[in-house]
Amino acid sequence: MTQDTTVCLAELDAHTYAEWLGSGSRTVVVPVGALEQHGPHLPMGTDAILSTAIAEQVATLVGAKVAQPISYGYKSQQKSGGGDHLVGTTSLDAATLVGLTRCLVSSLLEQGVRHVVFLNGHYENYQFLYEGVDLAVRDAGLGAEDEACVLLLSYWDYVSQETLDEVYQGSFPGWDVEHGGVLETALMLHLRPESVWLDRAVDHPPAELPRFDRLPVQPGRTPASGCLSAPRGANAAQGKLLFDQVTADLAADLTAELGSAQAD
Ligand SMILES: [Zn+2]
Repeated sequence: MTQDTTVCLAELDAHTYAEWLGSGSRTVVVPVGALEQHGPHLPMGTDAILSTAIAEQVATLVGAKVAQPISYGYKSQQKSGGGDHLVGTTSLDAATLVGLTRCLVSSLLEQGVRHVVFLNGHYENYQFLYEGVDLAVRDAGLGAEDEACVLLLSYWDYVSQETLDEVYQGSFPGWDVEHGGVLETALMLHLRPESVWLDRAVDHPPAELPRFDRLPVQPGRTPASGCLSAPRGANAAQGKLLFDQVTADLAADLTAELGSAQAD
């Protein structure tokens, strides 16, 4: 990968980056993940690995760049990630994630980035990213008429009904228990097969959790595996379908909303 073709800011020198900013191509995607247990068959960096891979493909499609990911996330919640009590789950508190997001937006905008896109891969992060963005946009005095803006999204919101039907064949358990399940396992099998240990994958029914949150967490409500649903049947072909569909639709949305990255 050369300076001309890489989409990763961390691999670019600052002068080439400045030239790129000056050329009118000014969309930077920030992948967001977590360091979080994902059961016995997936690595703890899964969320950042997936959001970064999706960001790199989308950036390639639209002519954007990808900033260093936020590799830690807000606390895992029992009903969406098994809980923050689980070994390996290493989290930020809300104020830290809000502050980090606010700093990144301010810094990127000050350098001349016109559009910042947060591409989230860890469910619990979303509202704190939103808050950090909102504060930074207020700090910058941006209004609706300004070209500069920030977009936020979680990648699973781009999975189409058609893809869901194809991947799950009618057995979709719901996004809330898709933790260490088919979606993440299939994507990892497509993108990083050397980091998936299917021989260690568990097979159990989706976790049944109450409609309320209870604190302190009752650890026994989380399946011992740490997975909220099983990765049963997950394969690389499903992962490719998910990846290709999500990145294509996301790239189309970014182009429609922000215009062609090459146009000034
Ligand atoms: Zn995850």
